[in-house]
Amino acid sequence: MDNNKLAELIFPDVTGTVSGLEERFPKRNLKEGAYVTRFAPSPTGYMHIGGLYAAMISSRLAQQTGGVFYLRIEDTDKKREIEGGTEEIIRSLADYGVAFDEGPFPDGEKGYGPYKQSERRDIYRICAKELMKAGQAYPCFCTAKELDAIRKEQEEKKADIGYYGRYASCRNLSYEQIEEKIKAGVPFVVRLKAPENADGHVTYSDPIRGSIQMPENRMDLVLLKSDGIPTYHFAHVVDDHFMRTNLVVRGDEWMASYPLHKQMFDMCGFKQPEYLHISPIMKMDGAAKRKLSKRKDPEAAAEFYLEQGFPPESVMEYLLTIANSNYEEWHMKNPQKPAGEFQLSLNKMPSSGALFDMVKLTDVSREVIAGFTVDECERKILEWAKKHEPDLYLFAGKNSGQFRETIGLWKMSGKKVRKDVAKWSELMQMFDYLYMPQEKFQKTVSYEMDEKYTKDQLREAVLAYQKDLFLNSDEWFEQMKALGEQMGYCPNMKEYKKNPQSYKGSISDLCSMIRIAVTGHKNSPDLHTIMKVLGEETVQQRLNDFLARI
Ligand code: GLU
Repeated sequence: MDNNKLAELIFPDVTGTVSGLEERFPKRNLKEGAYVTRFAPSPTGYMHIGGLYAAMISSRLAQQTGGVFYLRIEDTDKKREIEGGTEEIIRSLADYGVAFDEGPFPDGEKGYGPYKQSERRDIYRICAKELMKAGQAYPCFCTAKELDAIRKEQEEKKADIGYYGRYASCRNLSYEQIEEKIKAGVPFVVRLKAPENADGHVTYSDPIRGSIQMPENRMDLVLLKSDGIPTYHFAHVVDDHFMRTNLVVRGDEWMASYPLHKQMFDMCGFKQPEYLHISPIMKMDGAAKRKLSKRKDPEAAAEFYLEQGFPPESVMEYLLTIANSNYEEWHMKNPQKPAGEFQLSLNKMPSSGALFDMVKLTDVSREVIAGFTVDECERKILEWAKKHEPDLYLFAGKNSGQFRETIGLWKMSGKKVRKDVAKWSELMQMFDYLYMPQEKFQKTVSYEMDEKYTKDQLREAVLAYQKDLFLNSDEWFEQMKALGEQMGYCPNMKEYKKNPQSYKGSISDLCSMIRIAVTGHKNSPDLHTIMKVLGEETVQQRLNDFLARI
């Protein structure tokens, strides 16, 4: 068969050449050891937490070696595509602070684009034509029915399933037979012609798993589908070569395709990149571990954590602890250094699926939030509440000074930084009495009563305190003590402990009762500050409500 003639018959309109592409996309001029990595999602608009994990690893490896990290949209499967899906993915990554050096950006593409596979058809066709010229690809006209019959026969004979060797009937078509079908408009795919006697082994090695032997590929896999769109395999080879990727970070479900990919890189005469096949993020389901599933697990979505109010920094730092188990030790030794300074090591990645641990994420997040300044908290809470918690947004937006004061309340205890809050949604639960509008609070409050106090005692305390709240006094606590003393509450704790039977209670009991009446809770940060933020009118209303309800 004259392969050149066949290639012209199949690709009459393709005039470009692979060497032309080599010139158009020259080798990148980077220093030794710099990684060119990419994130290559399908534009389904859905960002899986595992995708975010892969993107984080790729971006860091490029960044820390002075390389390039780019976004490539793998939109070859039009059925799965969602309108706006690409923008959604870019937005989701931006929310997590993952930035790209190159990609399909609205302000124009530079460098090695187009970065959407659907815009790279010409490039794939040039490469497929060249393979055909070299006798390494051929058109296949088999119908779905014929392929089905082949599969059945293979199942019966317990042979390997696929299109290869003697089953690959289109391998043997003559030029005339092919020409006749093309003229008749019979649809076809373009297949790789795997080596006839491919029964050897290839060695795959990566920094996590070391060397693994795998059987050589002998399947004639599809390169271009009948609509001219490439399969993942062919697009991977062509795109990662011409975008000059030198480290492919991808899910380990692709590891089994390594022999095929190696064969294709070799046939095309391209240098194969290094790979880092990363293990999936798992969860426990009963006694078994399984992958986080988009369909079953809400926590599989990267968006889930932001909705809950985890700061993106917390999620990214937690993912870092999964990616490199030595991160925590480093962080302990360098508590002041930002997580961005940690150097990720390829050979410290986990070799099997890590369990996503919510408790751990919560711990990490408490530390992260404790490290934010009040300014940072204010900005981040506003941003989150705007989308997810209108009451909090309203409160925060009304009076920045007051809002900052409430942040101080849960963030600090004297000079000590508290670590009570792990996600912004907790603020509404813990501090409903501060952030909820009064009418709503009134309707929903349920008082955490303390059996220590009788109704009469509570009523007496509230009525006495209502006469003067001393809210604007710098000596609020002193005045409370004086009020308590008049009523029979000991102002001095030591004294009270020595002689409890001589008093109705201590100053702490008096404050406790007022606290329950105002906040509904037995415990709270500084009561005076809380009441100052609420203001005299609201405090009086709360005290009246309390009296009416007990
Ligand atoms: N589009 C592929 C996927 O989402 C990309 C795999 C890769 O990174 O090569 O699985």
